[in-house]
Order: sequence, then structure tokens, then C-alpha cells
Amino acid sequence: MRLNKLVHFIKNDDGYIVINPLIGEIDVIDSELYNMLISANFNLIPQKIFEVLKDKLIIVQDNYNEFYAYENLLKKLKFDVSFQTFTILVTRSCNFECVYCYEHTNQILLQERHMNRRIADEVIEFINRMSYNSKKIKVIFYGGEPLLNINVLTYLMDELESHQGQKITFELITNGYLVKDLWERYKKYFKKFKQIQITLDGPPEIHNKLRPLRGGLPTFETIITGIKLLTDNGVHVALRSNLYLKYIKEYPKLLDELDRYGINKKYLHIGIGFVHPDEIKNYPLISKKFLNLYLQIKRRGFSITLPFYVQRIPCGAITNNSFVIDYNGDIYKCWALVGLKQFKVGTVQKGISEKTHRKFLSLNPLNNSKCRDCPMLMFCGGGCIYNNYLHSGKLDLGFCPFQKYSFREYLQLFIKELGDKYASKKQI
Ligand code: SF4
Ligand code: SF4
Repeated sequence: MRLNKLVHFIKNDDGYIVINPLIGEIDVIDSELYNMLISANFNLIPQKIFEVLKDKLIIVQDNYNEFYAYENLLKKLKFDVSFQTFTILVTRSCNFECVYCYEHTNQILLQERHMNRRIADEVIEFINRMSYNSKKIKVIFYGGEPLLNINVLTYLMDELESHQGQKITFELITNGYLVKDLWERYKKYFKKFKQIQITLDGPPEIHNKLRPLRGGLPTFETIITGIKLLTDNGVHVALRSNLYLKYIKEYPKLLDELDRYGINKKYLHIGIGFVHPDEIKNYPLISKKFLNLYLQIKRRGFSITLPFYVQRIPCGAITNNSFVIDYNGDIYKCWALVGLKQFKVGTVQKGISEKTHRKFLSLNPLNNSKCRDCPMLMFCGGGCIYNNYLHSGKLDLGFCPFQKYSFREYLQLFIKELGDKYASKKQI
């Protein structure tokens, strides 16, 4: 018998944390047991505990192939089509000019690129074809600014709802500027969204600098008024904030604003990211500072996405159950790669090209020795392919997220907040 090569031990204050990606569990063991395991003195381990360690695949037979087992698990996750996600860019036009917008760098921001009814009908047919065997479907409307093409957006919602036999949920990603104006006329639709993601990057002085209207006018006040309307009417808002290291300390002022406007915390959920490519060099520091900010936001009574969770697959881009549909019917796998023709995997009219799609489906963190031996594999799945592409020019896995730089601290936070869910059912 021997130790499973995918299992990792991380020193904790009172022993060791055992990360077990094959069964997706976490245990805490004492130093005595750790020493017996690491020195392969299995005969010293009490029989009852030894059996549990075997059950959990922490100790395996010499000929066991843990990499093959993990590969099978990934395959199952990648090819599970019982749940499908379709992200639809109903337009690529936008009324904003955000400083970090990759659509902006793609030079398409200023042009009118709306999805028309004919393409919308073809999108519906494509979704019906692709989700034939699915039980649930999620449709995310995205852009550009999707509310600029509200006629086609609401047309798609009506048609998809009436055509689909399966359970369908809608989400919207918007810059939020038009919510205030459109609310009265379209509230029936706004209320149908499971959640609406709206971005505020900080207090007004920072947000308005980063996310101005095209032409430079400020947007903060109009957006927060829209958020107030939505949350007052029971619509869940996912408040997205794209941060820069230099602005982290100002972020609590945004929380003051949310309180000042009387935003109902029950319907607001904060999610934070660091999107600007230049920030990557700051990841070690961001990693530390973000932990503090996370705790601060929680202390203020806001709900915030845990920056660390079990994620064996980095995102839908490498699965068979997620597609991003451009305004003209072209299909991609990743939101950030939309418009880069070399990454197009098909069209709604002609379907998916197996050859290009396979390039994405075959991405596997186990093919990268760095990920294969990484204790964070279970929480990362191999990192963001877009970031990897930006930095190496290659469509591949292995680009480490900022959490990697304070891995132990994030792991401890995870155990504190979600330990019960992922702790082993059988105690060692
Ligand atoms: S709102 Fe979105 S699409 Fe529009 S400029 Fe900003 S990041 Fe780009
Ligand atoms: S991308 Fe980095 S953090 Fe993620 S599994 Fe690979 S090596 Fe680990």
C-alpha cells in the first residue's frame, strides 16, 4: 500500500489539512498520524483508522492509478449535459467606455452590432437542438451592453420560455445604466431574472474614472439608483467589482454608499475580481490584501462570494455543456475570446465544428506537471485559459489565480466557512 499521489498535506496550527481531490473532501489530522503516513509506517496506524484511510483513497494499492481515476472524473464533469449554459451576446455595442474593456481593445465597442430577429430565431433553434437531453438550461444575456437591444432580449426570453420543455433560468449581465429608465416598462422581465449582475468598481470617484459613459460622463449615481429599484423589488443583484491593488483600501467607501442609498442587503451579493492584465504582477500582494477586504465586507453585513471553492474544472469553456453565442450567431467557448475568429467553434446555423471544439474539450490540468502536483488543483482546476492566452499566447491551462499566493490562508478560510459541507462524512 502507498499514499495517493493526488492527496496533499498542508501544515495547520494543530496538525495537517488533508486535501483529497479525488473524492472532493478535506480532513484535519494530527501530527502523529501525519508522521505515520508520510514515513509509510502504515503498520503503526490503528486498524479502524487505516480502514477509513483506505475508504477515502488516501492510502491506495500499489498498482492504483489515481491520475486515470481523476481523468475519468473530469470526463464525467466535462460531458455531463444534464445542465447546459448558453451565454448570448444580444449586442456588442456599448454605451460605456470602461478603461479595462477587452471588447474596447477588440475595437468593436463603438460600432452598432445588435443581434436581429432572424439570428435570434436561429439561436432559439440551436439551443433547442443542443439541449435536447438536458434537464435544466441557464441562459445568460451579455454584451456589449445587452439592455441596448432590449427588444431582442425580451423576444428571446418569451420564445425560449414557451419553447423549452426543461426548466429554464435567465440571468443578465449589464452595466446597469439603463435599468432606471427601462424599469417601468420592462419590470415583468427584470423580475424574471434569477440574478442580475451589475458592476460598481468602487466609490463614485473611482467607479466614474474606470467606467464612464462613452464621452466621459459619470455613471455611478444612475447605476446605484437602478440597483435600489431592483433590490427594493426583490430582484437579486450580483454586484461585481473589478479592483486594482491601488484602490483596494478605498473599497469600503462603496459599502458606505450602498448603506447610504438603503440597498436591501438581502438581495445584494458582492463578487470581486481583478481583471486588468497589469494587476497580475501584483497577485502576491493582492492575495494578502483581498483576504482582509473579504472579512471587512462580511463584518459589514454584506454577502460576498467566497474567493475559494471546490472547482475541479476552471470554467465552462472546457466542457461540452457551455456555449457563448455572439450577436451574429458565431459560437465561442469563452466570453473573453469572443470575436477572435481563431477561437470560434461554430455557428448557430451550421452547428459546432468538432475539430475546434475538441481543442477546448481536450484541455486537461493533468497534462500540465505544475497543476498535476499542485495542492490547489481541487480549488482551481487549472486556472483561466484567457489569462494564459494573454500571457503565453497559448490556449492552455496552468495560469495560477491570485489565491495561490496565500494558499494556506485561503484554505483556512474555506474550512472555516464551508468546512462542514466538504469535511469528510467519515471522520479519520
Ligand atoms: S460596460 Fe462592459 S462592454 Fe461596455 S465598455 Fe464596460 S466592460 Fe466593455
Ligand atoms: S493553475 Fe496554478 S494554482 Fe491552479 S492547479 Fe495549476 S498550478 Fe495549481
